[in-house]
Amino acid sequence: MFVLFGWVKDRTEMGRALSCYCYRCQRTRDWEHWRETEWVSFFMIKTIPFLRTNFVVCSACREPIQLDAVRSRQLKSPAASSDLAGFLEAHQLSQKSEVQRRFLLAHREQTESREKNAA
Ligand SMILES: [Zn+2]
Repeated sequence: MFVLFGWVKDRTEMGRALSCYCYRCQRTRDWEHWRETEWVSFFMIKTIPFLRTNFVVCSACREPIQLDAVRSRQLKSPAASSDLAGFLEAHQLSQKSEVQRRFLLAHREQTESREKNAA
């Protein structure tokens, strides 16, 4: 018997995740929750969801940040959103050099104090 077996990947937008600072955009942004599912397929039909991966994606610059199981659960709890925002900040800054980090943090402080004075 001939069986056509394979893998299919798809991505679904799950909705708004949280709102917090994006160091690539250098301003506060809404982040979207996306889920990538890898399916086992038979005859090109998605049959068994094999692997699910959650991401948050900046709504403006589209930077995706992958979440592990613990962080994924935090998406469902509004109380954990500041913890999640802290994780995103640490993740984005971990890819920068010390000089870039200092610049980005100083820039954020400046922008936020300007916004506070304007309000
Ligand atoms: Zn961004």
